[in-house]
Amino acid sequence: MRHGRWNLLAEASRPAGTAELIDGTALADRVCRETAARVTVLKARGVTPGLTVILVGDDAASTVYVGSKEKTCLDLGMNGETIHMLVSATEQELLSVVDTLNDDPAVHGILVQMPLPKHMNADAVIRRIKPEKDVDGFHPVNVGKLSIGQDDGFVPCTPNGVRYMLEKSGVELRGAECVIVGRSNIVGKPMAALMIAADATVTVAHSRTRNLAAVTRRADILIAAVGRAQMITADMVKPGAVVVDVGMNRIPDASKKSGTRLVGDVDFDCVRRVASKITPVPGGVGKMTIAMLMQNTVRAAEMQSQ
Ligand code: NAP
Repeated sequence: MRHGRWNLLAEASRPAGTAELIDGTALADRVCRETAARVTVLKARGVTPGLTVILVGDDAASTVYVGSKEKTCLDLGMNGETIHMLVSATEQELLSVVDTLNDDPAVHGILVQMPLPKHMNADAVIRRIKPEKDVDGFHPVNVGKLSIGQDDGFVPCTPNGVRYMLEKSGVELRGAECVIVGRSNIVGKPMAALMIAADATVTVAHSRTRNLAAVTRRADILIAAVGRAQMITADMVKPGAVVVDVGMNRIPDASKKSGTRLVGDVDFDCVRRVASKITPVPGGVGKMTIAMLMQNTVRAAEMQSQ
């Protein structure tokens, strides 16, 4: 009986054929509260966890993401700093900023906001970050550790957030048929590694997958990380499946002041009639990503100050 009394009441009041919402905001708040408590312990030892984000150029979406990372750091009592470099900066200049941060004991986590301008080699920049400060979990050392099931590395924040949401929502991962749509290095592939580690049976689909709907309909747990607005429709979902929507896409919406609205990769209104649980967009995975970044930064500070 994993449900508490209030959850049971919530279940009872939910109309038949409407999936339970997995509340990313509430779960992210929980991670942030736990992280803030760890910050207090570290500060009592004279260590203030510090994250430095490097932003190259002034891409509007990146500027918003970086701003909320810095703000969340400060809200949790950590040091959060953004180094803003001009889009005309050279790769060598960026690498030397990374070198400086690698050697700075007050900086426990370093994050280079992607995407970088086209004249920079993102792989080379990621490889330059010390693995123990790579709180994004993108350095080949951390990717390798995740792949071989070694738990002393950093796990990429978005898939780690998805795993947390599934576990805290009481979803049985062991033996579950999990289909991930998308095979990027930042979401799809690490998500697959995490689900394998959790004893799920994992299929990774992508743009070359034949008969995608037949593959996704096999899923007990369907994770969409594609970047195509509302492409997962109800006919692609097995009744009762748990659906996680990683996608963040802007579509035109004349009723909004901005003229656009944020939607996921899942056609939410239709799929929620078929699924048993579903993450909304916004208010789902996006919130978890920053919370997991905070958790990784505190863990980096704990490990570096031992
Ligand atoms: P990405 O690097 O563009 O990868 C997209 C993946 O989807 C690729 O593997 C691609 O296949 C696959 N794909 C594209 N079209 C497809 C189709 N028609 N059928 C099946 N597969 C298809 O994207 P990403 O960085 O992983 O991000 C995915 C989405 O998640 C985006 O909307 C992004 O904004 C969002 N995101 C959200 C968060 C968050 O915090 N919530 C964090 C990161 C990303 P190929 O490999 O064959 O090209």
